[in-house]
Amino acid sequence: MAAKPKLDVQVCDHCNLRCAGCLHFAPLAEKRFLDVNEYERDLSRLAAVEGVEGYFGFVTLMGGEPLLHPRLGEIVHDPTDGSYA
Ligand code: SF4
Repeated sequence: MAAKPKLDVQVCDHCNLRCAGCLHFAPLAEKRFLDVNEYERDLSRLAAVEGVEGYFGFVTLMGGEPLLHPRLGEIVHDPTDGSYA
């Protein structure tokens, strides 16, 4: 059985570190955060697509540095609460 695909979510582009080998170019990125309302709307739309429920094996929160997002607690969900597709 094939592994389920993952859903990558870009939480922010920038980072508070400046690693020379950063593959995300985070030290050069503008300060920008994922819009939480837009994210919730996208998840709801995705969950409403027939056949998508249970499609993703896991969600990866990407950056930059995702921990810099001031509303990260609203982005991280209990995966059993039904809000994930
Ligand atoms: S995103 Fe990772 S690799 Fe890039 S600057 Fe930040 S800590 Fe370093």
